[in-house]
Amino acid sequence: MALGKTEDDWTADAEQRKLRAALESAGHRYTGQRAAVFQALAGRCDHPTADEIFTSVRRQIPDISLATVYKALEALVSCRLAMKLSCDDGPARYDRRTDSHDHLRCLSCGSVTDVEDSGIGAWLASHDMAAGYDLQGYQLVLLGTCPNCRN
Ligand SMILES: [Zn+2]
Ligand SMILES: [Zn+2]
Repeated sequence: MALGKTEDDWTADAEQRKLRAALESAGHRYTGQRAAVFQALAGRCDHPTADEIFTSVRRQIPDISLATVYKALEALVSCRLAMKLSCDDGPARYDRRTDSHDHLRCLSCGSVTDVEDSGIGAWLASHDMAAGYDLQGYQLVLLGTCPNCRN
């Protein structure tokens, strides 16, 4: 281990290499701004909007633009390092998790929470619900009022 490098630095280096490889294999350029957007998203489990990511990245990179943040998020989605959750009546949200999982969405404040293993994927597979489709996956969002908004 080189002098002056902590364990965290090594982990960060490995992550940076992985990010660069993923971006470049999908035809995107690796930039410091994209790395900052990735890190901002990876540090949150609340499915932030592009605006929320913009707010947090701007603390680090004051001259980054919202358009750059959007493009960075789309690049991350296209190389499967993030998932985009579209919403009919609000801004899209971004998910650092790309494994298949379900969501709860609050109809009042728009917050989105992960549901751990709803079992619905297995239920769908065990019932003949596909009507002849070759299924690639599914997205399920449970709608309701979150505990914060109920209080
Ligand atoms: Zn709410
Ligand atoms: Zn999620």
